[in-house]
Amino acid sequence: MVSLIKLASFFLAATGWMMTGVGSAFAQGVERREAHAHVHGAAEMSFVIDRDRLLVELAAPMGDMVGFESAPKNAADRMKIDQATRLLNDAARVVAPGTAAGCRVTETSVRMPFGGAARSADHHDHDPKGSHVDVEASYVFACRSIGALDRVEVTVFRTFPELETIEAVFLGPRTQVARKLKSSSPVFRLK
Ligand SMILES: [Zn+2]
Repeated sequence: MVSLIKLASFFLAATGWMMTGVGSAFAQGVERREAHAHVHGAAEMSFVIDRDRLLVELAAPMGDMVGFESAPKNAADRMKIDQATRLLNDAARVVAPGTAAGCRVTETSVRMPFGGAARSADHHDHDPKGSHVDVEASYVFACRSIGALDRVEVTVFRTFPELETIEAVFLGPRTQVARKLKSSSPVFRLK
């Protein structure tokens, strides 16, 4: 549970997220995940309410989304990376906020190791200890009735069937909920 506690404290302290947006949360999130080894099949997600917005972050083993955790060796590998990136850029394939809240996605960021724009600058490219490599994705939803947000369905289980469990944390203005989601129970109830 160490990682979950870190996750929660990270977001509670994350004025950086609120002030400077998804990019800086990424940078901090990457540091957070590097502090411990990941387990295949297991991901982490956070849901944070910021006024009328729902901020979602996902960190998951690259191996569960792409099939490997190294630089692509050929065109087929590159296609797998591109495919996973495309899927993650479609917010609906990762998370579906309950319809009562009237949320629509306004921002999507995907940090895929060894792929796309992040390639040259991404320190994940170097894997000297043979440690695991994570994929990070962030989403911002603007919600018409954020107070009516009572559930979030984690659709990423269907998109990436290798994922089996997600340690999820929800930080709202009055409630904090931590829960372990499974592919067989992918709905995070917030109320
Ligand atoms: Zn791994």
